[in-house]
Order: sequence, then C-alpha cells, then structure tokens
Amino acid sequence: MLSQDNFFILTIDGGAASGKSSSARGVAQALDLLHVDTGAHYRALTHALIQSGAHADQAAAIESTLDALRIGTQVTDQNAQLTINERPPVDSELRSQAVNAQVSHFAALAAVRNKLFHYQRSLADFARAQKFSGLVMEGRDIGSVIFPDARYRFFLFADEQTRAKRRQSEGQTDAIEQRDKLDRSRAVAPLTCPSGATQIDTSQRTLAQVIQLIVDHVQTHSAHAKS
Ligand code: C5P
Repeated sequence: MLSQDNFFILTIDGGAASGKSSSARGVAQALDLLHVDTGAHYRALTHALIQSGAHADQAAAIESTLDALRIGTQVTDQNAQLTINERPPVDSELRSQAVNAQVSHFAALAAVRNKLFHYQRSLADFARAQKFSGLVMEGRDIGSVIFPDARYRFFLFADEQTRAKRRQSEGQTDAIEQRDKLDRSRAVAPLTCPSGATQIDTSQRTLAQVIQLIVDHVQTHSAHAKS
C-alpha cells in the first residue's frame, strides 16, 4: 500500500487518442491518485477565448482576455477539473467541433501555456493537501516541462488506424493527425516523448492491460523509491 508520506507524481504524455485519459483514470483509481487531464485545461481556455471573440493570431487581445479569467479547481471523486470564474467545465463545450479545430492553435501560444504552467504545478500540493497518495497528470508536456522530475513518467502511443477507430467510437469529429502535427511542431513545449520515459504501445493492448502495466511498474519500483 502506498502511503501519504510516500506521495509521488506520475505523468502520462501522448498524442490524441493514444489512450492517455482512460488509462490515467484507471491508474488513479487503482493507486488512490488525484487525476488531472490537462487537455481539458487547454480546451477550457480555448472555449473561453472563442467565446470572447479572440483569434489565435491576436496575441495582445488574448493576454488581456486571459488576465481576466479566474482559474480554480473542482474535485469530483478522484478527478480535478479546472473551473473558470467559478464555472465548472461543460463536457459538450470542451469537446465541441469548434474547440477540436482551434485548441492546438491556442495551445501553441506562450501566453496560454504560461497561464497554465504554475496552476498545473500547484496541483501537486493541492493533491497532497487533499490526502491523495499521489498525482497522475496527463497531457503533451507533463513529463518534459511541467514535472520533468516526476518519479514515474510514461509515454503512450498507438497506430493511426487504432486512434481513428477510438475517436469514431466516441462519436467525435476530430482531425487528430492535424492536431498532433501542430502539437509536435510548435516552438513552446511541443508534444514529445520525455527522455527516460517508459513507452507503451497501446494499439494491441486492452485498456485493462495498459492500466495493469503502469500499476505493476509503480508497484515494482515503489519499494526502491526514495520520495
Ligand atoms: O488531450 P486532448 O486531446 O484533450 O488535448 C487537446 C489539445 O490540448 C491538444 O491537441 C494540445 O494542443 C493541447 N494540449 C497541450 N498540452 C497539454 C495537453 C493538451 O498543448 N499538456
């Protein structure tokens, strides 16, 4: 059993539909961790910016709009969600076609990433204060930029066919290849496999198998971990 004084951070990075979110949720349940989906953070800010009429090429307008947004946290079971001006996120807004199409453009902006950097890092202390055994945070730059010193870092990937099938079965219209291309090629915090991260190909594995692999890795290594 992992105790509070052995609090740890586990990061999961990967491209769209690589299996990150479902795996992170399962790992959080199995190991009593607080789960944070940072893709939802970028989606929430993108939704708010679209609502304000901002365009991704208007850096100054975006900065002042971002300054006016108050970011907070709402915990439901083991999931921490970002609130904007005390308003909880609405899933249909975060997953809308407009947000799918725009999120990678807004996520490439330094102003947007700076707004989230300290907030995302602060969630480790938040998880500790809430008495979780640790934090599992998933995204594109978590093991490389947000928590490069996390005790466990994973990188998930899957072949194109599998990823397209996953998005279809979720009923989503989402140009995942286009998003990955933008995410990989941006100047700030690009999508990359963090050096030293454990890579997992999720194409031929069930969700339960991926979760088990990660949980086994943690349990095998926790006996040797210092802090
Ligand atoms: O994970 P999800 O597919 O919901 O992420 C939506 C988008 O948010 C990504 O395509 C990417 O542009 C951005 N993102 C990011 N950095 C993260 C998480 C998500 O740039 N850590």
